Amino acid sequence: MVKSYKKEKPTGNYDAIIIGSGLGGMTTGVFLAKEGKKVLILERHYTPGGFTHVFKRRGYEWDVGVHYVGEFHRDSTMVAAMFRYITEGRLKWADMGEVYDKMIFGTTVYDYAKGVDNFKARMKEYFPAPKDQASIDLYVDKIYEAQKAQQGYFMEKALPDAARFIMGNNLRKKGLKYNRPTSEVMADITSNKKLTAVLTGQFGDYGLPPTESSFMMHSALVKHYFNGGYYPIGGSSKIFECVEPTITERGGEIYTNAEVSEILVEGNKAVGVKMKDGDIYKAPLIISSAGLRVTYNQLLPQGIKEKKNLQGQLDKVKPSVGHVCLYLGFEHSTEELGLQKANYWIFPDNYDHDKNIKEYLKNPDAEIPVVYVSFPSAKDPSWDERYPGKATIDIITLAPWDRYTKWDGTRWMKRGEDYNEAKEKLSQRLMEKLFSVEPQLRGKISHYELSTPLTTKHFANYMDGELYGLDHTLERFDQKFLRPKTPVKNLYLTGQDVVTVGVGGALASGMVTASAILKKNLSNRLKNA
Ligand SMILES: Cc1cc2nc3c(=O)[nH]c(=O)nc-3n(C[C@H](O)[C@H](O)[C@H](O)COP(=O)(O)OP(=O)(O)OC[C@H]3O[C@@H](n4cnc5c(N)ncnc54)[C@H](O)[C@@H]3O)c2cc1C
Repeated sequence: MVKSYKKEKPTGNYDAIIIGSGLGGMTTGVFLAKEGKKVLILERHYTPGGFTHVFKRRGYEWDVGVHYVGEFHRDSTMVAAMFRYITEGRLKWADMGEVYDKMIFGTTVYDYAKGVDNFKARMKEYFPAPKDQASIDLYVDKIYEAQKAQQGYFMEKALPDAARFIMGNNLRKKGLKYNRPTSEVMADITSNKKLTAVLTGQFGDYGLPPTESSFMMHSALVKHYFNGGYYPIGGSSKIFECVEPTITERGGEIYTNAEVSEILVEGNKAVGVKMKDGDIYKAPLIISSAGLRVTYNQLLPQGIKEKKNLQGQLDKVKPSVGHVCLYLGFEHSTEELGLQKANYWIFPDNYDHDKNIKEYLKNPDAEIPVVYVSFPSAKDPSWDERYPGKATIDIITLAPWDRYTKWDGTRWMKRGEDYNEAKEKLSQRLMEKLFSVEPQLRGKISHYELSTPLTTKHFANYMDGELYGLDHTLERFDQKFLRPKTPVKNLYLTGQDVVTVGVGGALASGMVTASAILKKNLSNRLKNA
């Protein structure tokens, strides 16, 4: 059971303290708990689960950071096995069907069809020229090639120092061959700008346009969804609910409303945490899933930061862009509204993601470069039972932090009229984008509210309201320090900054971090999961 720190405080002796109850922290907690460690998980939010949590208002429920997850087409994939391992089989996933993403450029729609052969066939229908057909084959081959080459790169992060010394560079080298701008790799594959824009349309899933993103990230993301999208039955909060007993039944404890204000360091060793209320909890292992920037800037004492030159590390990476999300509620069922399960990606019809992003970053009134629409009530087969006669939609776009800094420091829900006006204007623009594709929804919205990067900062503690932790640039993938072990003894990192953004990335980070701590290859624990 999850406890509230406001009502009850931890009293036990713990082998490990984990900061944050997102999927990275929770997965690390499971691996440690299953190896006999007693873990204490401290979460500052009043709701556990990090980006897997949902929020409820006015009789609706919305997920905030899980719209689809891939790799459930076979029981033997890493993602499927990991979820069985951490939830002990409690969590079930619903298939989104034959099409998981729809790329919409003006009035032209390109479906991403489930199954790589179907994907290729559908793309070839859209791009029938022989040259393009060959490029589509080559693209898919490149995705698999890059993915395969990356396995060693991520494995290296879990290795003990001696093994890293011997084979670390070799393991990294193969993966880093693909650490090139996505645009550059695409230019080797095709000169067709339309085809390139369609094939890179999922860039919003990692937050960077093709010239800025690493092909390592792009290939990981694209391959992840090749065999379709899946949604947790019961909504994304089921993820935490199903993982939690695996930890608590093994003596672990999880507290919400439990904000860590400092990681305590004695000599060069992390020994405990200080809470916002001043209480101190000690353990021989401290693991932070709060992200590199929060861990080093907010939680470690300044003296340690200087002594270990952690600023040098921070200077080499940057936060990802922020986002706004418009949460819509309808007093009509999904069926009545004619909603489908596939996500929409709505773009300007010039097929130039980079140009569109640049223009929008310069000018907020420029055309919105990407609008992502997700239909959670259509994806969840239990929705109609849980919320009869209702439906929800999430609409997301990128939002640079500097557009919101003037309200930083104001209070949630009391940020001022100008903030509300800016939100209203953007909400209307996003709704119009939705109506351009689903005109029957006009006049049917019963509730809407917009989150901004300030909301992400307030609830999830990302310092610049960043959407995906650290940005997935080439520089990021070059950094050896983005690994569980930190320069402070007994302090480890986990979560999306250690591997990559995404449910899959956060899951993998849990296993990588626990393996690094215990100096064991824990992937073999998945064999019987
Ligand atoms: C809008 C959006 C949509 C997304 N859609 C998808 C999707 O469809 N599919 C997919 O695979 N991925 C998606 N993602 C990405 C995915 O949700 C994340 O990559 C993943 O959940 C991150 O997990 P994490 O554990 O690393 O971090 P988080 O979930 O952010 O967990 C970190 C936790 O640490 C806590 N914390 C921070 N500071 C402190 C402190 N001082 N004391 C105590 N606790 C603290 C935070 O409150 C938080 O709960 C999406 C993300 C967003 C934002």
